[in-house]
This record gives sequence, C-alpha cells and structure tokens, in this order.
Amino acid sequence: MARPPEIKKRISSGGVIFRIQKDGIDVVIVAVRGRKAWCLPKGIIDKDEDPPSAALREVREETGLTGEILDKIGRISYWYSLKNQTVKIHKTVHFYLMKYIEGNTDDHDHEVDEAGWFPVDEALRMLSYKSERDIMKKARDMIKEGLNIKS
Ligand code: ATP
Repeated sequence: MARPPEIKKRISSGGVIFRIQKDGIDVVIVAVRGRKAWCLPKGIIDKDEDPPSAALREVREETGLTGEILDKIGRISYWYSLKNQTVKIHKTVHFYLMKYIEGNTDDHDHEVDEAGWFPVDEALRMLSYKSERDIMKKARDMIKEGLNIKS
C-alpha cells in the first residue's frame, strides 16, 4: 500500500511595492518558471529573520528595488507536492505593502526571469494565482483609500 505523503510547512514573505505616477498607481510583478507565471516577489523566511525583514530582502533581491513597509496586506496559503507526491508542502506567504524608495528592476536576481513595473490594473490581469490577485486588489484599495498608510 502506498505510504501517506510526508507533510511539511514552509513560510515565505513578500510584497507589493508601488509608486504613484501622474496617471495612476504602478506596481512590480515578476515572471518565474520560464516566464510561465507572473507572481508577486516573495521567498522563504530565513532563520532568525522576521516576516517584514524577509519581505524587504526578497523584494530587493527579486526586483532590484528598495522599499519601505507601510503596512501588512495579509497572508495566503496553498498546498503543493514534491517528489512524485511523496512530500506535501503547506505554504503560507505573508505580504506587505511597500512604498518604492530606490533601485532599478534591471537589477533583479537570477531567481526571476523578469521584474517589471506595470499599472496596477494590468498587473492584476497578469498575475497567475487568484490568491495573489486578491492580495493585489487589497493593496490597490489600501493605496487608493490611504487607509492604514502611515507615511
Ligand atoms: P518561494 O518564492 O517562496 O521561495 P518557490 O519558488 O520555491 O517559493 P512557490 O512559488 O511556492 O515555490 O511554488 C511552488 C508550487 O506552488 C508551484 O507549483 C507553483 O505553481 C505553486 N504556487 C505558487 N504560488 C501559488 C499560489 N498563490 N496558489 C497556488 N499555487 C501556487
């Protein structure tokens, strides 16, 4: 009889980094897995690192940009399998709203295929996963309403 899969927990952190342009809000998303998916920048929280610090570091590494955290947006979770279904991962990702400070998306690292600025509504159409679209919608509302933005 097949063994039940081993279950592991993984926690990542990431962000919606934005800037206000004359014609609206721009945000950054990244292309991954050979450009098959567009996602929010994120990554595993290191040992001795808290979720906001990991979010700032991952956004810096994957987008080339430095941001400042304004608030927490929320968290998502999903399941995926490794090694022919013998390991099941339960992933949680914390997301933060970040104001763009400096940097260039050409300086993204090799973990992503591309990092780019897009108008928020275009980014919403491009994002591959519903849970990340929900995070982006919440971020857009927070930016528009100026709610909880302590800057
Ligand atoms: P991290 O960026 O946190 O280091 P990773 O690149 O190792 O993570 P994930 O991006 O979590 O891994 O992807 C692992 C699997 O989960 C892939 O098969 C991917 O398609 C799927 N996945 C990624 N994000 C989501 C999501 N928001 N909802 C559902 N499935 C997702």
